[in-house]
Amino acid sequence: MTDKKFDYDLFVIGTGPGGEGAAMQAAKGGMRVGVAERYTQIGGGCTHWGTIPSKALRNTITATTRALRNPVFREMGINVSPTLEQLKRGTQTIIAQQVNMRQSFYDRNQVPVHFGDAKFVDQHTVTVGTDCDPIRSKHFVIATGTRPYHPEFVDFDHPRIYDSDTVLDMEKKPATLSVYGAGVIGTEYASMFRNLGVKVNLVNTRDKLLEFLDDEITDALSYSLREQGVMIRHNETVDRIEGLDDGVILHLKSGKQVKTEALLWANGRSGNTENLGLENVGLEPNSRGQLEVDEQFQTKVTNIYAVGDVIGYPSLASAAYTQGRAAGMHLLGQRDGNLRIHDIPTGIYTSPEISSVGKTERELTEACVPYEIGQSQFKSLARAQITGETTGMLKILFHRETLQILGVHCFGANASEIVHIGQAIMHQPEGQNTLEYFVDTTFNYPTMAEAYRVAALNGYNRLF
Ligand SMILES: Cc1cc2nc3c(=O)[nH]c(=O)nc-3n(C[C@H](O)[C@H](O)[C@H](O)COP(=O)(O)OP(=O)(O)OC[C@H]3O[C@@H](n4cnc5c(N)ncnc54)[C@H](O)[C@@H]3O)c2cc1C
Repeated sequence: MTDKKFDYDLFVIGTGPGGEGAAMQAAKGGMRVGVAERYTQIGGGCTHWGTIPSKALRNTITATTRALRNPVFREMGINVSPTLEQLKRGTQTIIAQQVNMRQSFYDRNQVPVHFGDAKFVDQHTVTVGTDCDPIRSKHFVIATGTRPYHPEFVDFDHPRIYDSDTVLDMEKKPATLSVYGAGVIGTEYASMFRNLGVKVNLVNTRDKLLEFLDDEITDALSYSLREQGVMIRHNETVDRIEGLDDGVILHLKSGKQVKTEALLWANGRSGNTENLGLENVGLEPNSRGQLEVDEQFQTKVTNIYAVGDVIGYPSLASAAYTQGRAAGMHLLGQRDGNLRIHDIPTGIYTSPEISSVGKTERELTEACVPYEIGQSQFKSLARAQITGETTGMLKILFHRETLQILGVHCFGANASEIVHIGQAIMHQPEGQNTLEYFVDTTFNYPTMAEAYRVAALNGYNRLF
């Protein structure tokens, strides 16, 4: 496999989950692999600005607010309001743990990390940073991720205007916040800041939240956010943004004006493809900076692959890692057989959280599939009553004739964990991927997983 004309068999650009998945798969398969990273540490946007810091902060906020709401604490007179600085303190420790652990993967698999900006010179050559020695590789994987989209009319240097990368640098929590853009990132931050007691306006450019989700789940999320005090404004588009000393005014095209102490711009992301020297290899990203790939994650220059957020949907760390592995397997001449790259669950870490896998009711109705629904409301589960986390539901969509499970949608505490039970059964061979598994199986009691049995019986009883 090794070709001495090249320094590496595979050179990966970017050390987020996409790059790591590709690098580790190829290295374990015997390839000589090197990687480039322009940030000072490995881990990608996932570790430093995206998934890890946002979920670490969310966890601290949730745990702290839950503790402070506990009647025992109240009875003891404990009534404090932690500062944002205090809540963020643990995040850096978690990031450091992640970096150390992931660096050990590169070390153990003898994958050198070249720090600096990688740039293509030609189809087999890159330079990294200011190091003049070109690096030659037989293959490449571009896994450079995305960054928040910055329209020219928004002054991101204004101290009260943030994007999803800089919001974690916020020193003091504002009393009021507008979040422009109600995609996954906007909705998650709106929910997190509301939990901190901040008055939040969530401005959505569309007519419903997260429209790729099951309608009932979206409705439950909107209801829950509104009930918590988030002001949601649908179908609004920004006209201009006015940064002031004491706040930010969002002027909307509808004529409305929303003034808050701070603004989080969470509307769109751009692929990190500028300055990559793509023109030197004949690749052109689309208007959002994304690269087009085929089923094997090959660009039209077949020795150059691209994975992760830089290729667009679904833009999840979980998917990026799997895509990286799939590209690595293809390079090794292995089949990606069971990677299920099109079956990626969605996890949205609002409070309560949301998770789903498989088809939605809308999709099944459009496809004229005769399905039935089994539902379990968390408020009827003993475990939820014990923990007090009674908001939520589990919904199983199944074929009314074969009983095959077609979709699992969950809203409520631990939804992103609970969904995997349904996912595991959905992927069983035909005949074993049905509702019957949940009807016939004994679950620990009291658990949230018991929702599957309750939902399955509920669905089963609807059949005639
Ligand atoms: C606020 C937020 C919350 C999120 N929460 C979740 C979540 O809960 N669950 C989930 O699954 N996903 C989540 N995501 C999405 C997730 O972070 C991304 O899907 C994931 O990071 C994509 O991985 P990647 O490898 O494609 O890119 P990245 O992780 O962005 O890594 C790309 C790397 O490439 C490097 N790079 C770029 N250009 C160059 C160059 N020219 N030379 C060298 N290096 C370069 C960058 O420095 C970076 O380190 C979240 C994202 C954000 C912003």
